[in-house]
Amino acid sequence: MARDYYGTLGVSQDATPEELKRAYRKLARELHPDVNPDEQAQARFREVTAAYEVLSDPQKRKIVDLGGDPLGGGAGGGGGRMGDPFGGAGFGLGDIMDAFFGAATGGGGGRGPRSRVQPGSDALLRMELTLEDCLTGVSREITVDTAVLCDQCQGGGCAPGTKPQQCDTCHGRGEIQSVQRSFLGQVVTARPCPVCRGYGEVIPDPCQQCSGDGRIRARRTITVQIPAGVADGMRVRLASQGEVGPGGGPAGDLYVEVDELPHDTFEREGANLHGTLRIPVTTAALGAVLQLKTLDGTEELRIDPGTQPNTELVLTGRGMPKLRSSGRVDGRGDMYVHLQVEVPTKLDPKQADLLRELAALRGEEEPELASTNGRGHGGLFSRLRSNRR
Ligand SMILES: [Zn+2]
Ligand SMILES: [Zn+2]
Repeated sequence: MARDYYGTLGVSQDATPEELKRAYRKLARELHPDVNPDEQAQARFREVTAAYEVLSDPQKRKIVDLGGDPLGGGAGGGGGRMGDPFGGAGFGLGDIMDAFFGAATGGGGGRGPRSRVQPGSDALLRMELTLEDCLTGVSREITVDTAVLCDQCQGGGCAPGTKPQQCDTCHGRGEIQSVQRSFLGQVVTARPCPVCRGYGEVIPDPCQQCSGDGRIRARRTITVQIPAGVADGMRVRLASQGEVGPGGGPAGDLYVEVDELPHDTFEREGANLHGTLRIPVTTAALGAVLQLKTLDGTEELRIDPGTQPNTELVLTGRGMPKLRSSGRVDGRGDMYVHLQVEVPTKLDPKQADLLRELAALRGEEEPELASTNGRGHGGLFSRLRSNRR
């Protein structure tokens, strides 16, 4: 009888070659004898492998689809040794290595020793800025401590007048291959050469200054331009001012992150500023022109007569620069002045008399409790009045 190769791999009859490979890879990872020494798993591994071998070969797959069995009906299960599926045409060692380890192993030949020269990593610094600094932008000198190119060996890692030499152990390949015989046939595994750590070459006489790393730590001072309009958490990038890589590899970038200090007066909300101004009740009633300290100097602030508590005055364009992602500044935000009207709490007798006189002059009546729809509640009001006497 014909075996159910599709069922063995758990794929449908119209599975693409990619789907076949994925299904096989997944099963092989579970069932490979190295992972799973269980007898049943090994038997199943052989079945799965045979199924993959058949279905990944278009001609054999066609036979299956026509109801036949390209491996012959009797080869399933059992203790008998199955014909070596890897010796057959169309299914080489490369395929199974590929299935196991992904494309990284490739068909061999693609990998060489790894490079000693690696790109460097980015570095991050924080810079405290006041709101005023953020308003105008600043130019500031900072001290950075990063890896820089070793000036003795220019990154090469060799003592002056010496050169790297090919590794004797791996003969420059950077990896050591070992061949193991198994029922799969020959399995070739590769691991990085322990002598040269995969570089394929060794430095017999390392540079004294950097111990062969090609870079050294150094402290230097650079000037950073912080544009106007920056805000807490924003980062300014300084290209190639980060860490130099191993072997003198290209430096990463340096990021300067803005750490905006809280301001005594203003709270920032994007490009807008908010401040609170306390005014006496008389000022709110009479109106005034006040001198207000803003970030730009002193501004006149006009309080209209009869200003109510919680009034918000807006000084247009007195906020922070609007810094766009392009780096351009596009106008400025606004400043919001929130007015708090202060009712005096301690009145001496004369002040109290004046206020009573004022109330009498204005013919002020005792307030009535009103619901939000404006209708009075006479009952409650009359009781309040009686309590006060
Ligand atoms: Zn050096
Ligand atoms: Zn080596």
